[in-house]
Amino acid sequence: MNYFPAEPFRIKVVEPIKMTTKEERAELVREAGFNLFSLKSSEVYIDLLTDSGTGAMSDYQWAGMMLGDESYAGSKNYYNLEKAIKNILGFPYFVPTHQGRAAENLLLSLLVNENDYIPNNMHFDTTKAHVLHKKGIPVDLVIDEAYDPTNNYPFKGNMDLTKLENFILDKGTDVIPLIILTITCNSGGGQPVSMENIKGVSDIAKKYKIPFYIDACRFSENAFFIKTREPGYEKKSIKEIVKETFSYADGCTMSAKKDAIVNIGGYLALRDKDLHQKASSLAVLFEGFPTYGGLAGRDLEAIARGLEEVTEESYLNYRIGQVKYLGDKLIEAGIPIIEPPGGHAIYIDASRFLPNIPQKEFPAQALGVELYIESGVRGVEIGTVLAGRDPRTGDHDYPKLELLRLTIPRRVYTNNHMDVVVEGLKKIYQRKDKISGLEITYESDILRHFTAKFKKI
Ligand SMILES: *Cc1c(COP(=O)(O)O)cnc(C)c1O
Repeated sequence: MNYFPAEPFRIKVVEPIKMTTKEERAELVREAGFNLFSLKSSEVYIDLLTDSGTGAMSDYQWAGMMLGDESYAGSKNYYNLEKAIKNILGFPYFVPTHQGRAAENLLLSLLVNENDYIPNNMHFDTTKAHVLHKKGIPVDLVIDEAYDPTNNYPFKGNMDLTKLENFILDKGTDVIPLIILTITCNSGGGQPVSMENIKGVSDIAKKYKIPFYIDACRFSENAFFIKTREPGYEKKSIKEIVKETFSYADGCTMSAKKDAIVNIGGYLALRDKDLHQKASSLAVLFEGFPTYGGLAGRDLEAIARGLEEVTEESYLNYRIGQVKYLGDKLIEAGIPIIEPPGGHAIYIDASRFLPNIPQKEFPAQALGVELYIESGVRGVEIGTVLAGRDPRTGDHDYPKLELLRLTIPRRVYTNNHMDVVVEGLKKIYQRKDKISGLEITYESDILRHFTAKFKKI
């Protein structure tokens, strides 16, 4: 029996979701060119496409929405959020932004020059894109364990400190304007970073006088892993762990669509007054006046309240517990996933699930289509389709892993929904030898995964 911490909330508002038949779904996904992005959300029963902006706000957050002060300048909600960021994260300054990538734009525009190197444990797509946009060079220095899907190391998101220091010594500090640490490590499967490692990165950054920033989208989920896995932190509260985490950094970029449990928003938080002034000026150009930053006053209030709720232990116990519940049930059924389960998603290893489908026939995409037809569940391919083509050879840029990501929205689905996912995958696993691969019939030059069309082989 799996122990699962039950929901620390009760349900006050419900949103009906449509049940379709297997026959209907087979037709719908065929019409969508076997691309799950082309489905209407109303055709999806359980939507595990992303945890970004898909969370359910609490009554406390919704009540805060009614207290939105929509003044152009100096809204009271701005000051409420400032207080939350000071109290919970410990940063004296911040600029609200319309979402996480906008905060990255501000920070990287200010710090990165052409041909600069930006070390990160693993860049998230938008961070990497912004570094490249500023003509910088993104460098991933995560520990090797991160690339082994069966390795159960508890902090697979850690930066490799030796690699980091060697990299600095090799390139010199002049061309490294900042170091970023992504917690949890999204591109590595939502794997956490230990406090020892956060401190280690900070120590190296200080030693070489390089600014150190945290990509903080899932800071609270990371704190929970520290509490439950890192010796010495068992008795500390989540709020203490969060405070310590950020105490080592010069600032953070944040997508509030993740660990602030709102549907839109973000911010750049800073310790340096001058940099804050510069970021505020830049924000006027890209986001809006610095006390609203592209958001409504009510959005700022919801973020402030979300930051309080997301750092409650009962919430995290349930949140991480639910992802683990899904992961453990799949492991029990012999279904290959990235282990251990991360903080916000389960990643099915499609190469091991469908060994008869070669990488060039998109096993993770095929598995995603099959899961939609079987159960109405929408996951997302993180494999060859997403990776695109190598511009030099024109061939697919084959990644190390072919994954189907099942991302769990916050406070949205119950464990009965998780069971539907498990049962669907078990059925598919039994007939896995009969599943065929896919062939591309249309693709765009950039970001092909969103619009590509396929046919069954
Ligand atoms: C989502 C995300 C971002 C970007 O945030 P958006 O709100 O989607 O712009 C940056 N870094 C990480 C690690 C993320 O998960």
